[in-house]
Amino acid sequence: MTIGILGGGQLGYMLALAGYPLGLHFRFLDPSPEAPVGRIAQRVTADYTDHAALEKFSSGLELVTYEFENVPVEAANFLAERVPVYPPPAALEAAQHRFEEKTLFKGLGIDTTQFVAVPKPAELNAAVKQIGLPAVLKTSRLGYDGKGQWILRTPEDVEKARREIPHVHMILENFVPFTRELSLITARSRTGDIVFYPLVENHHRDGILRLSIAPAPRLDPELQQAAEDAARRILESLNYVGVLTIEFFEHHGKLVANEMAPRVHNSGHWTIEGAVTSQFENHLRAVLGLPLGSTATADHFAMVNLIGELPESAEVLRVPDAHLHLYGKEPRPARKLGHLTLRAATPQRLSQSLSTLPPFFHRPEFCLSAAFAYYASIRA
Ligand code: AMP
Repeated sequence: MTIGILGGGQLGYMLALAGYPLGLHFRFLDPSPEAPVGRIAQRVTADYTDHAALEKFSSGLELVTYEFENVPVEAANFLAERVPVYPPPAALEAAQHRFEEKTLFKGLGIDTTQFVAVPKPAELNAAVKQIGLPAVLKTSRLGYDGKGQWILRTPEDVEKARREIPHVHMILENFVPFTRELSLITARSRTGDIVFYPLVENHHRDGILRLSIAPAPRLDPELQQAAEDAARRILESLNYVGVLTIEFFEHHGKLVANEMAPRVHNSGHWTIEGAVTSQFENHLRAVLGLPLGSTATADHFAMVNLIGELPESAEVLRVPDAHLHLYGKEPRPARKLGHLTLRAATPQRLSQSLSTLPPFFHRPEFCLSAAFAYYASIRA
């Protein structure tokens, strides 16, 4: 049985690794000849808009899924006429457009930031009048890892942005002075069954995820419940199948939904070692209509992204319960090359493991101080 995956990056790589024990085969489509999955699976190198390549790619597949949310919806629809595609292309469409996504959240009664559409730069001033300052201006499409975003604090920032921004559809949101960022990873099967992982705390630098702590420290069961209720509404309204990730801000003890990703997520990598069933395996089970696996977790985890350059493997693996995942990509600034997961029985032990990481990791961009501050506070 061969599963087709659109996108051939590290998420696809880890999906395939989770699928091999289930006897699955994989075929990937990615425009880049460098896509890391080429090491471990069949790879078709073609544009998502190349119908002849899509046709050939889909031949003999059990189903198609994706590991990359900016796949053109048109490609997903083209494939859906030939072979089942999960998650449904409509979910892909909603997640690709920030205005549509936030409108969906609002329509389902899920708290989100205040927002207004800015269809063209000339409409920015009116939008700022409505939302106020500070505010965050984002391109509605193709934004990821903090790209295509402007924080507007003063009227001068607004004027500068109005002159600089591209002529594309944008969204203006009020700036949320959040306490922290959390994400919920959830899976819904073709049979309608749903599972949730515990909320994870995420730390970003330059718009890129650097550190996830799982389960999120000081996790109030009411917060987990609120996240699960929001997720259930989204999953059911979209008749969703597969893993869905929702990113929230925690603000005044409540959740504010920021965005969703219709795929496995970087903040869920810890589930490979940390949950009875990883997010990757549950995504495959969900799209195949197999029973979903337990998301139960024991212990405490820190996932550290390796961005732009790699440490010496031996230095890292010296740390007890450290697991290294390297994606086989050429080092390049701001590129996710791998990640490290640390596991410990208690938060204190996790703190100890983090502090024994080699000096490479003690630079501010790794955000480890955020974890240490928390562990210090629970010892006090
Ligand atoms: P996004 O692309 O929406 O995930 O935004 C990237 C990062 O920018 C988020 O992880 C937040 O750290 C920050 N951010 C985005 N939107 C807002 C907002 N409305 N208020 C405050 N910070 C934000």
